[in-house]
Amino acid sequence: MSAPSFAPSAPIRAVDDRLAARLRRQVGQAVGDFRMIAEGDKVMVCLSGGKDSYTLLDMLLALQARAPVRFELVAVNLDQKQPGFPAHVLPQYLRERGVPFHVIEQDTYSTVTRVIPQGRTMCSLCSRLRRGALYEWAADNGVTKIALGHHRDDILATFFLNLFHQANLKAMPPKLRSDDGRHIVIRPLAYCREADIAEYAAQRGFPIIPCNLCGSQDNLQRKAVSRMLAEWDDQHPGRCENIFRALGNVSPSHLADRKLFDFAGLSREDVEKEWPKHAEPGDNRTSIRPSIHSFESE
Ligand code: SF4
Repeated sequence: MSAPSFAPSAPIRAVDDRLAARLRRQVGQAVGDFRMIAEGDKVMVCLSGGKDSYTLLDMLLALQARAPVRFELVAVNLDQKQPGFPAHVLPQYLRERGVPFHVIEQDTYSTVTRVIPQGRTMCSLCSRLRRGALYEWAADNGVTKIALGHHRDDILATFFLNLFHQANLKAMPPKLRSDDGRHIVIRPLAYCREADIAEYAAQRGFPIIPCNLCGSQDNLQRKAVSRMLAEWDDQHPGRCENIFRALGNVSPSHLADRKLFDFAGLSREDVEKEWPKHAEPGDNRTSIRPSIHSFESE
């Protein structure tokens, strides 16, 4: 694959005020709702050079300037040694913006291309190795929070991929403890739409580095789900928003996971306690029953 050319970093451009304000508000809200950042945190911003991570950095810099708590930011990029990777782009951009940064150099590209047969998608192993390198650096450098650039549509796509292909009701949480238990990972863009981020990145003129320098095949399932979501967003305004809100509004007793709700423990005695025999018609408790029933049977 021939290496694309990258223009020298352009001056930072201004953005439509309302769009920038909306993104900042959504980030502030997500950070507050999930208590993502606290006084004294050292937040590592994982910067790949894609639109999402540039936007994430912008948003966290804006938050840092106005937040009542003090926290430190460090941008970290992993140079995976893909052929044609423009190693100068991010350092130049970050230096110009005065952001502290570090570049980890680790040739995960050779490992991935050696292990994965040609023509198969490499993203899953590549992401695992990338995560390992970033988490390692975080542990060695006093990082207290690791910020990733996933947004609302990544979260929804992951939810549907798990639902369709893994028989699992599971998405991508805005905040989590890493599998090795050593890190708190945060996703401050969790409430932001991808379309807004793409528009913001285009208006800002970020020096984007594509994530396909490796020549990996696209993940067809993820592409199909993303197309489905984009179509819904277009033809059924509000649907994706509702699905996303539903992820934070779960009723375990109305699903069927016995680990989340004690269905076996439900007993007649509980019903008697809730609905005593002497309850009169017109009693509040009896009068709401039909509406519950009709909703359940929809
Ligand atoms: S597109 Fe390439 S660099 Fe990006 S995650 Fe997939 S394998 Fe890794």
